[in-house]
Amino acid sequence: MPKSDIHSPKSAGFVVIGNEVLDGIVLDTNSNWMEIRLTALGLEMRMLVSVRDDLEEIGKALRFACDNCDVVITTGGLGPTHDDMTLKAVALALGKELRLDEEAMEIVEKQYKALHAKGIVSTPEITESRRKMAVLPEGSTALNNSVGGAPGVRIDLEGTTVFCLPGVPSELMFIFEESVLPWLKERISQKYYETVVEFGTNDESTFAPAIDTVMRECPEVYIKSMPKTYGTAWTLRVWISARGNNAQHLREKVEEAIRKLEEVTGIQASLVDAY
Ligand code: ATP
Ligand code: MG
Repeated sequence: MPKSDIHSPKSAGFVVIGNEVLDGIVLDTNSNWMEIRLTALGLEMRMLVSVRDDLEEIGKALRFACDNCDVVITTGGLGPTHDDMTLKAVALALGKELRLDEEAMEIVEKQYKALHAKGIVSTPEITESRRKMAVLPEGSTALNNSVGGAPGVRIDLEGTTVFCLPGVPSELMFIFEESVLPWLKERISQKYYETVVEFGTNDESTFAPAIDTVMRECPEVYIKSMPKTYGTAWTLRVWISARGNNAQHLREKVEEAIRKLEEVTGIQASLVDAY
């Protein structure tokens, strides 16, 4: 699929960095948390790549994601330890120099003062390893982190914007909500509408042709089904969604698809409020 005009991003991808994630020690909840929010905003999630703490692996994944997505978010590896190498890998992959960023330095200083005042760290001093967190690829914008030490980073490239966020979920969530979401909201024109319904059937295979028929008749609509159990009872949960510029039109298209699914299958759909 071609990339879109960066002034109105449509697709996003993730590069999840960390040996601990691939070794099964840490479950990657960060990408799931962001996917839900970015999908609701109208972006299409195009890829999720997980890589080890390795300069070359991070670089390869980043270039792949940048070639295919309007917005790329990396998570993890922004901290002070030897295995936190995301920004060095990003700089190498994008052919940029690393340099001390004044705004990032102010964020690091502010944070270590606050963490020291709370008794979380023993000194507010900017040691060499703390200073490392303010060394960013040239052309970066530092993003405030009021939870932990490492600032987030935004890098605007031709055709793609890259966000680098920390791995610690509370830090990632803070930067995402304070800096990433507002940036995206200003630029995304595409809207997303989704309805979840259930059909009282336990046979996805006989339901599948109905989905194919309705998706053919309603090409703007995407339909995804998943069987669900309630004790010993089965139902088929179905997600009907559409992306486009006009919210009212999307809603109508989704409702039309549900009516058609009911007609073709002869089964009444029931609305699922929370899932
Ligand atoms: P810090 O500045 O705190 O070091 P960091 O950006 O360096 O943050 P990592 O060192 O990669 O982040 O990860 C720190 C911790 O965050 C991990 O040990 C793990 O507990 C958690 N974490 C990392 N990646 C993820 C993820 N994808 N999903 C959920 N938790 C994660
Ligand atoms: Mg770390």
